[in-house]
Amino acid sequence: TPGIRPLVAGNWKMNGSLAMASALVGALKGRQGNVDLLVCPPFPYLAAVGAALAGSKLALGAQDCHADASGAHTGDVAAPMLADLGCSYVILGHSERRTDHGETSGMVAAKAQAALAAGLTAIICVGETEAQRNAGEELKIVEKQIVESVPSGANAGNTVIAYEPVWAIGTGKTPTAADVEAMHRHIRALLKSRVTGGAGMRILYGGSVKPSNAAELMAVAEVNGALVGGASLKAEDFWGIAEGA
Ligand code: PEP
Repeated sequence: TPGIRPLVAGNWKMNGSLAMASALVGALKGRQGNVDLLVCPPFPYLAAVGAALAGSKLALGAQDCHADASGAHTGDVAAPMLADLGCSYVILGHSERRTDHGETSGMVAAKAQAALAAGLTAIICVGETEAQRNAGEELKIVEKQIVESVPSGANAGNTVIAYEPVWAIGTGKTPTAADVEAMHRHIRALLKSRVTGGAGMRILYGGSVKPSNAAELMAVAEVNGALVGGASLKAEDFWGIAEGA
């Protein structure tokens, strides 16, 4: 999309080690292409990765936050803590959080509100299941997720949408370029009508993005970057995707 700088975000999920984290960041930190690059390690590695990428153009993000700024929530992590550590982004409402932890769109909106209040950019994930796509419901499902997950106060500067069909995550399967375009155009129209600056908000595609399909997917109208899982764990693969974007 003209005027929107792409973002390529790596979601490491619950993978890696301290040694792997520093090696990966070390291999990426000197590089700077035409896109914004973001790494989202597990919570325990945020501080070390933040230190390792200091002075580089790589941004740091987390994979979740709590909806409250502090309090009695054992095991949870608050958005201001992430900001404190140098995070500028947080992924929210990933399908694995929605499935593993029962996160609803209402909960995602509350988390996103907390993220924005802490000065973080929220990457809000949406996407249909395979059964929903087979039933022809994907546009309706994703529209409902966006309406319910994007908080008031969201704008092009503080919020990113990631469209991730659940059936494409970690499976090697991807929608056709035409299907991605139909979804992203639908999301763009929705954002334009509902969100301040919705015309300029980044809409990422996620789900089995790899170096060999990145250029094709990133060339689709209204695709403004990628959210990458598995392929973000290898520096050359992640960089290959960034080059395709
Ligand atoms: C993800 O879970 O955000 C993702 C896109 O995973 P993968 O790239 O491994 O499909």
